[in-house]
Amino acid sequence: MFALPQLPVTNRWGIKNIIQRALRPCCAREGRGYQKPLSKGTLPSLTRPKYGLEKPPILMDVLYRGGILVPQYDLWLDPHHTRPAAFVTHAHADHMKKHGHVYASPATAAMMLARGAKRTKFHTLEWGEQVAWNGAYVSLYPAGHVLGSSQILVEGRNGQKLLYSGDFKMRESRASETIEVPQADVVVMETTFGRPRYEFPAHEEVMDDIRSWCRDAIAQKRTPVLFSYSLGKGQELLAALHGCGFPIAVHSAHAKICAVYAEHGVSFAPYDTFEEGQQLEGVLLCSKQCMRSKWWHELQRTHRLQWANVSGWALDGGHSRGFALSDHAGYSDLLEYVRLTGAKKVWTTHGFDAEFAADLRALGLDAAPLSQSKKTAPDDQLSLFAGL
Ligand SMILES: [Zn+2]
Ligand SMILES: [Zn+2]
Repeated sequence: MFALPQLPVTNRWGIKNIIQRALRPCCAREGRGYQKPLSKGTLPSLTRPKYGLEKPPILMDVLYRGGILVPQYDLWLDPHHTRPAAFVTHAHADHMKKHGHVYASPATAAMMLARGAKRTKFHTLEWGEQVAWNGAYVSLYPAGHVLGSSQILVEGRNGQKLLYSGDFKMRESRASETIEVPQADVVVMETTFGRPRYEFPAHEEVMDDIRSWCRDAIAQKRTPVLFSYSLGKGQELLAALHGCGFPIAVHSAHAKICAVYAEHGVSFAPYDTFEEGQQLEGVLLCSKQCMRSKWWHELQRTHRLQWANVSGWALDGGHSRGFALSDHAGYSDLLEYVRLTGAKKVWTTHGFDAEFAADLRALGLDAAPLSQSKKTAPDDQLSLFAGL
């Protein structure tokens, strides 16, 4: 559904053409052209409201304050500092903190607990379930990033909607739910890979490369090690390497998260949990931070290791071997996400936020990096409630 043509890394037509080429196939599928949002200049005169009522409505404010704040409703989304209460999209370290009360999907709550948020009081929401919050309604939708990862939809008093993407990807994966993109007036989206050069190769191609790289290493009596995040990437590799004919060992941090996956109905073929001093026969999955540990040096002494990073940043090249498998959306998928939301205003955050916002503006959309957002609503519209 989301297959878009591979775009050139650079071309002689410049950025605008690259974007338009990326958008065209999706529009063609739906049998209509890409619609620029109506501005004063493009409103047909017959439908232009009289008496100056053509003024666009004031959209819901959203601010970056060490995390995302929706000030009208005193609502924190993925705050980086401990708050009395917050919504958390997923359990990666840059999104979860140990807040007093956390509103999250059941799998995210379980991952956070497994990662040490023992004192937090969790309130879990099923997909699409609404919770009332200081006059607004908040609900979660799958983001396709890792198991339980959520987009957060805020519906204001006047029916206006704000959508925060959290980390997301559009392709399907065995280690996450498939994304469902709700429509919204205002969108805050992550733009980690917001440059046209970040177009990921076909998923199965990358997986085939990884499988044959492991087989070749083992045939040469080497031990392949795949550096991968313990939440998401590790489980996707585990699923993809099943049936390759060699044993798979995972680091204990990976194993802890695999157990949470299993509790939520996503189980994997048998694997070993790596123990220090263990003699490895197949492939090892662990995070790159393991290179700093004592056991890594011991392992290097006893095994002929051959390692590779599994990360979207592998597209940038570099000295070490890398496989371009990402749990984030590539450039065309970021554009596709914007199109699916039907947003009137897009705020970008993470990675190439300024660059991607500039590309959207070149397409006629109202977009800016979230770091530039300011409060527009008067104070008397702010919530009188302090939250929980
Ligand atoms: Zn993440
Ligand atoms: Zn993140």
